[in-house]
Amino acid sequence: MTDALLRIDVSRIRTNLMTLRAHIAPARVMFVVKDDAYGHGVDAVAAAGVQAGISWFGSFDVPTGLRVRAVAPTARVFTWDVATDEQITAALAADLDVGVGDRHVLERVAAVARGRGIRIHLKIDTGLHRNGVRAEEWPDFVARAKTLQDAGDVTVVGIWSHIAEASENDDEEARTVYERAVDIARAAGLSPDVLHLAASAAGYDRSTFRHDLVRFGAFGYGVRSTDGPDIPGIAPAATLFTRVSAVRGDEVTIAYGSLDGLPTTLGGHITVGTPGGPQPLVRVDPATSVVAQWPDAAVGDTVAIFGPGILGESSATTLAEAIGTVGEEILVRVSPLVPREYIDPEARGARR
Ligand SMILES: *Cc1c(COP(=O)(O)O)cnc(C)c1O
Repeated sequence: MTDALLRIDVSRIRTNLMTLRAHIAPARVMFVVKDDAYGHGVDAVAAAGVQAGISWFGSFDVPTGLRVRAVAPTARVFTWDVATDEQITAALAADLDVGVGDRHVLERVAAVARGRGIRIHLKIDTGLHRNGVRAEEWPDFVARAKTLQDAGDVTVVGIWSHIAEASENDDEEARTVYERAVDIARAAGLSPDVLHLAASAAGYDRSTFRHDLVRFGAFGYGVRSTDGPDIPGIAPAATLFTRVSAVRGDEVTIAYGSLDGLPTTLGGHITVGTPGGPQPLVRVDPATSVVAQWPDAAVGDTVAIFGPGILGESSATTLAEAIGTVGEEILVRVSPLVPREYIDPEARGARR
């Protein structure tokens, strides 16, 4: 059993979201809460989103969408992974919006929803080849969607895609493909009024990528882009703490290891926050890790592995950069067995 704790500042999440809302207005924020809200815990995070005035959530799968619906009764909830007929039925019952990225799924969703006009968003493949209808098949696809809409089975409310955000040229090409697909859908008689293409980086940086909605995941949690700048008004919300379990010679053992979610490759590459200031992480073992000793290190001392500056330690993104991955990867790896604790300093202040 780990001594670790992931502490989440929900007022920070609200502030991040309000910063994003103001920055991209009049476009709106879709707050992406997949992967248990990037490891932060979907129930509390979605509730924070509602408090911040978020009107759209992106859930990836239906079970997550249902959990969002429980705390956000009036929000629009977009799910783009309907794997089974049962999930389509559940999505319909909970009034979720459904992303449809291929012809078979379109037929299946329409068949399950028969006559009930389920809200769908059609996905064009703009180059990522992850799912999405290829440009050459798009005219047939939208024509079929129009027929199913006329029959009352589906209501096409959105057109969407996903981009790599790796190179500006590729993104611009993707945007051209996307916008052409929207024109083709309109020419086929559809009237989608929710257009969404970009995620955090492109949506924040470039107004031409915002359309009606930007799907923000990372930035909502304060995870900046790898090698990207800090953004005013956005900061990490999660701090990962653990405790010292042994002090031997010049090694301090902390109760958090690779089985808890810490990549072994971080050993030798980062510092962690200790009562003696930042100290090198020497090694990551399965159940524990080893930190260089500081004066007076004692069993039971609190050590922060990442988080917003409390003991001078790194953010999840800084850790990620040390091993060539992205901040959200560090967060989603934190074991579900690590308790999540929610603090809300602003709410406490407001009540007094
Ligand atoms: C994860 C995801 C996002 C959010 O991406 P960030 O870079 O974390 O903002 C947006 N859209 C889709 C389809 C996703 O899967």
